[in-house]
Amino acid sequence: MTTAPEAVLSPWTDGLVPMVHCRQCHGLYRDVHHPCPVCQHQMGPDVFPEGYGRVDVPRYTLEGAAPYTIFVLLDLIRNEFERPLTATKGMSGRVSQRLVIVILFWTAFEVLMERFFEAAFADDPESKELRRTPNIGQRLDRVYRDRWGKTFWDDLAEIGYPEVSRHLQTVQHRRNAFIHGDAEAIDDALVVLTVASLLDVQLAWIALFNKRCTGRQNKIPVWAFRPKP
Ligand SMILES: [Zn+2]
Repeated sequence: MTTAPEAVLSPWTDGLVPMVHCRQCHGLYRDVHHPCPVCQHQMGPDVFPEGYGRVDVPRYTLEGAAPYTIFVLLDLIRNEFERPLTATKGMSGRVSQRLVIVILFWTAFEVLMERFFEAAFADDPESKELRRTPNIGQRLDRVYRDRWGKTFWDDLAEIGYPEVSRHLQTVQHRRNAFIHGDAEAIDDALVVLTVASLLDVQLAWIALFNKRCTGRQNKIPVWAFRPKP
């Protein structure tokens, strides 16, 4: 007897893309037919007036788990990863031809973490601690530790994602080296690892968001476009 092969999950279709947003507690989850795993709220389908003898299957109109920018960045990463390489191997063959994947990835991570902190501090929107620390590195370390007693990196490892935590720290370090002049800091191995980790990064972020950013009085929608004043 053979067992069915396990479905291979994809970073393009199984991370943030299929998630919905619970209007009750702000939790993010995948299957709308089950109660929200954070607050147990069961969402209902949209109500349509009956008419013309049509029987529709129940429909749900729900906000997603991320702003549109994230989906655009995921598409850009995918395009770059799946395109054929050109004959010349990068700039003089010394840097990764696809290093832009790592730049795009870090941009997406910063967008997600900006939403994370806004949602987590939603009941204290004037928080001096947050407002005077726009730098992501300091937020992930000091601001995070002041609020939850440990760094973002340790929190991520403790909920079951130590590899994601290590990978994100490597990307942060190499990306900083890149923008400060070391173009070779982002090599092909890091590009490949970044794509290979892309689904786990999304799932880890969702798990930590559900742990740290739900159940606030004020809910700052993670999906909404909010121009800065
Ligand atoms: Zn909920």
